[in-house]
Amino acid sequence: MTIESRVNALRKTIPEGVKIVAVSKFHPTETILQAYDAGQRVFGESRVQELIVKQPELPQDIEWHFVGNLQRNKVKQIAPFISLIHSVGSERLIKEINKQGKANNRVIPCLLQIHIAEEETKSGFSPDECRRFLTDKKWREYPNVQLVGVMGMATFTDDKEKVREEFRLLKTLFDEWKSDFFSDDPSFKEISMGMSDDHPTAIEEGSTMIRLGTILFGER
Ligand SMILES: *Cc1c(COP(=O)(O)O)cnc(C)c1O
Repeated sequence: MTIESRVNALRKTIPEGVKIVAVSKFHPTETILQAYDAGQRVFGESRVQELIVKQPELPQDIEWHFVGNLQRNKVKQIAPFISLIHSVGSERLIKEINKQGKANNRVIPCLLQIHIAEEETKSGFSPDECRRFLTDKKWREYPNVQLVGVMGMATFTDDKEKVREEFRLLKTLFDEWKSDFFSDDPSFKEISMGMSDDHPTAIEEGSTMIRLGTILFGER
C-alpha cells in the first residue's frame, strides 16, 4: 500500500474529533510529503535535531508537534515554530518553554505528560506531582505556556485490559483537572493517547489525539 492509501484508509476508521498526528521520526522528507499530498497536515517528531532539519525543507503549513523527550537546552531551537509540545513532564521544562515562548513573542501550547505506565522508563509527571503543580497554581506564572490537556503512554504489553485501564486513568485525571482547574478555559481539551498498536482502545477511552507512526509509514 502506498502512504497515500494508508493515510486515506486510516482516516476512514478514525472518528471525527480525533486528530491524527503522523509521527514521522526517522522517515525522510519524501515520505512525509507523500502523506502531505494525501492531505495530512499534522506531523510529530521526537528529536529536536531531526525536526529542525526537516521543518525548513517541508511545506510551511505543516503543523509540527513535538512528542519525544525534550531537553531544556533544546527548547530554544523549536520555540519559533512548534504548534504543540506533547511531552511536558516537569515544571523546570515548563519554565524554559515559557522563557523561549516569551523570547519569540508567542504562547506555546503544551500537554502535561503523565506517567500512567508500569515501566519506570516512561517519563512525565506522576499523577500526584501534576495535581500538586496545578493546585499550587504555579502554571499561572507562565503566561507564554498554554496548557491544553494531557498526554500519556500506556505500558508496552499485549495485555489489552491493562492498557485500557491506563488510558482510563488518564481520562479520569483529565476530567478531574478540567473541572478543578480549567472549567473556564475551553482550550484545555486534549487527551493525547494511543499509538499504532493501541489507538482503537485509546479512542474508546476518550482520546482526542492519536500519535501514529508505524501504521502510516511502516517500520522504522
Ligand atoms: C514514536 C512515537 C509514536 C509513534 O509510535 P508507533 O508505535 O510507531 O505508532 C507515538 N508517540 C511517541 C511519543 C513516540 O515517540
